[in-house]
Amino acid sequence: MPPNSRRIRVGGVLVPGLVDHHVHTDQIDLAALLAAGVTGVRDLGSPPESGLALATRSPHDPGLPHVVTAGPFLTAPGGYPADRAWAAEGSYREVRDTADAARAVAHLAARGAGLIKVALNADAGPVLGDAELRAVVGAAERAGLPVVAHAEGAGQAQKALLAGVGELAHTPWTHRLPDELIRAFAARTHWTSTLDIHGRGTDTAERMRAVDNLRRFHRMGGRVRYGTDLGNGPLPSGVNVRELEALSDAGLSATRILASIAVSAMDLAVLPGDPLTDPLMTSRVTAVVRAGRYMDVVQTHHTDAMRTRMGPVSAVVRTPCRAT
Ligand SMILES: [Zn+2]
Repeated sequence: MPPNSRRIRVGGVLVPGLVDHHVHTDQIDLAALLAAGVTGVRDLGSPPESGLALATRSPHDPGLPHVVTAGPFLTAPGGYPADRAWAAEGSYREVRDTADAARAVAHLAARGAGLIKVALNADAGPVLGDAELRAVVGAAERAGLPVVAHAEGAGQAQKALLAGVGELAHTPWTHRLPDELIRAFAARTHWTSTLDIHGRGTDTAERMRAVDNLRRFHRMGGRVRYGTDLGNGPLPSGVNVRELEALSDAGLSATRILASIAVSAMDLAVLPGDPLTDPLMTSRVTAVVRAGRYMDVVQTHHTDAMRTRMGPVSAVVRTPCRAT
């Protein structure tokens, strides 16, 4: 224990810091997100002055969640999200050929990207060819960066899988994937959930298709990450209780739901009850430790009374932060 440690007594259950694996940092209030109990985010697409700047600054800033970013989306010339009103200048980088793919990845890696985001949206415009996509994956492998794909439209999820992409940014929702394809995904990839963007609390066909795909992916051993696509339309700032409920609908146990979100290696969250008894507990953070600083969290969206009570535990907080 470092000599300058401070001992804090907290009432509740201590878990690793909570991470939303799909946000857009240029579209959200990060300080408010931390104040609601989320200590880490993965930014899956933003202009360089947003995500890449935060990736350098945020790890040791107790006023912000820890940001890991992809920087700008990589896409085909004229491809998604070039057509979207929300896509700010610089939030995507068009890839012209295989050599350009390698250059784009090397440039992002040098600027501090922690992963690479590829847009493959065949419903919205041109998409990268197989050769370009493989060049992105190869360059990312050489740089030690995972590749996360937005796959939308017929055949795009399968194309990502065949090119060696390691993760999907969304549970597939446009088509019911066949079991054999899901089995191949489950063996080799992670999926970030983003179930609640479909309907935001109402049962739409898209949500039901996504839950069905995720249920089979999970049952076949696929690894699921909690992610909300925060910044994409109206979603609660904090842990989204509807996303947790949707994960439960998809058959994830309380243990698997906790494992999908409480993953920070640096930070901590205090919950008012046992998340292994009640998976919704992770939406009721009462305190966090972010970059070595303890902070109380006031939840404004509690929907029902605390159902579980646990004895007090002690948290040891190191100040100032030393990343390990
Ligand atoms: Zn997104």
